[in-house]
Amino acid sequence: MTADQHPSPPPVPLPVPAAVPASGDRRRHPAPAHLRFFHGPMDCGKSTLALQVDHNQSRQGRYGLLVTQGDRSAAPQISSRVGLSREAIEIDGATDLRLLVRDRWADGQRVDYLIVDEAQFLSAAQVDQLAELVDESHVDVYAFGLTTDFRTRLFPGTERLLEVADDVQRVQVEVLCWCGLPGLLNARVVDGVMVRSGETVVVADTAPAELPGEEGGPSPAVRYQVLCRRHHVRGELGPTAAGPGQLALP
Ligand SMILES: [Zn+2]
Repeated sequence: MTADQHPSPPPVPLPVPAAVPASGDRRRHPAPAHLRFFHGPMDCGKSTLALQVDHNQSRQGRYGLLVTQGDRSAAPQISSRVGLSREAIEIDGATDLRLLVRDRWADGQRVDYLIVDEAQFLSAAQVDQLAELVDESHVDVYAFGLTTDFRTRLFPGTERLLEVADDVQRVQVEVLCWCGLPGLLNARVVDGVMVRSGETVVVADTAPAELPGEEGGPSPAVRYQVLCRRHHVRGELGPTAAGPGQLALP
């Protein structure tokens, strides 16, 4: 009989509570810090997300330091195209991010977390400095950056972050190619034509639209456009060629 083959099972043990310590416990044994990396194409909402993370963290009484590099605005700040902004510390390739934090501590300032915008411009060494801050000093790091340049190659900071971050998330907030598919890749457009070679990555790579040429005579109109992979491969910019904003109103 099947009943004999299947004797009644022993009492089912009650589910074990998830191994998440109560908040009081957490305070005594701080959770390990993490290096988190959020990446995507231009206009995918990275800076907006960076500011949202900062807001959420500071509401919990935590103190953060915001750093950026070559932000699209003149004053050092993290700004998003939806109009939010927050003061930030401008860094460059020579900045030691460990010292940046430790100097604050030396001044008696608290730094619980670090928000790094434009993280694609970090050097590999600077990414390793971030990892050291996480592991040795228990500072949470949230890094935000572009995935690839207009040649579809990883930026140096992005490459290193993909290698060492604890957590990597692709941000995809309604950046669409003109065809309606998700936009994944950044195209550089010079005088209305997509180009695949040119100067090494410069700050203007994140600028919204046609820029150079304000001084020093005429220069070709350069802009950036997000495309799906197929249209990036084909170099097709779409029927409207709308230019800045990529949106042609009927
Ligand atoms: Zn497309």
